[in-house]
Amino acid sequence: MLDIKVTKTDCPKQKPTDKDQLGFGKIFTDHMFVMEYDEGQGWHDPRIEPYHPFAMDPACVVLHYAQEIFEGMKAYRTADGSVQLFRPDCNAKRFQDSADRLCIPKIPTEDFVQAVREVVKVDEDWVPTFPDTSLYIRPFVFANDVGLGVHASKKYTFCIILSPSGAYYKEGLKPVRIYVEDEYIRAAPGLTGFAKCGGNYAASIKAGEQAEKIGYSQVLWLDGIEKKYVEEVGSMNIMFKIDGKIYTAATTGTVLPGVTRRSIIELLKDWGYEVVEGKLAIADVMKAGHEGKLEEVFGTGTAAVVSPVKELTWTGDTVQIGDGNIGPLTQKLYDTLTGIQWGRIEDTKGWTVKVQ
Ligand SMILES: *Cc1c(COP(=O)(O)O)cnc(C)c1O
Repeated sequence: MLDIKVTKTDCPKQKPTDKDQLGFGKIFTDHMFVMEYDEGQGWHDPRIEPYHPFAMDPACVVLHYAQEIFEGMKAYRTADGSVQLFRPDCNAKRFQDSADRLCIPKIPTEDFVQAVREVVKVDEDWVPTFPDTSLYIRPFVFANDVGLGVHASKKYTFCIILSPSGAYYKEGLKPVRIYVEDEYIRAAPGLTGFAKCGGNYAASIKAGEQAEKIGYSQVLWLDGIEKKYVEEVGSMNIMFKIDGKIYTAATTGTVLPGVTRRSIIELLKDWGYEVVEGKLAIADVMKAGHEGKLEEVFGTGTAAVVSPVKELTWTGDTVQIGDGNIGPLTQKLYDTLTGIQWGRIEDTKGWTVKVQ
């Protein structure tokens, strides 16, 4: 148990009054959670404070060598007014795996979940009540040593900030166009693909920007060695329904193990679908598309929950998926998962955790 000291703000900010003010990750709440790590002392001084900027030395390790990890999760307002989290223990566990890869000291699951719950509790009034909105939770750790030598830092800061958010995609649940990236790669065996770290994103921005310029919402990454097998999309895992079966990349080191991915696989199996986690060649996806067997394609992630794909372009070849509208299975998954998250359907899985 962390002994969290709480200092509340004297001047609360104006909360958004309109759904359209929300967007994603633009507005932050009144408070944040912070604790520090020092070698020899461990994690110390857990506290909730008014939201404030950090003062950083220009030689701070994270600014030069990107020793940083993060998480992304949400708090949901249910119909009875209570607030709940979705599988926070999964985020805690993944945070530990990311920490291990980046040489960052781990935070125990109980402490991580306690910190998230307490800071959300303090800013509970910020969890929006408009349908399909939520409070986005961003825990992160960065290296705080001062000096330009390349070593694991001896000092770290763990922080949690909160952002009331609307729908992640401007287009909403409207199916999106995806560009299959055939030049740049996101991950390769032995690298950091499975870790949620800022460095992965820094390396992915160029491909994303190029795809956006020519009218695509996201890029689909192929494996880093042969550029032959599908891996994931931007900040989402991706699934393909071909001839009745669901295919998705295995999480064996190069793909981020999404909590949404894992939950959807469980639901699909419950519903009797065969789910194949393994190598799926992009050439086979395109072939299935041209033969009319590519029934549905969708991304999965906390931000969007499920994001239907209507078109894939790979090396100049384009396939349309279904009739361009959201597929029935994609819709059912969206309705079920969001139903559990916002408490509209009973959670028989024990996935939700009340904040109170
Ligand atoms: C966070 C993330 C996902 C999705 O994970 P969820 O736990 O479902 O939100 C997928 N891919 C990448 C690269 C990510 O950073």
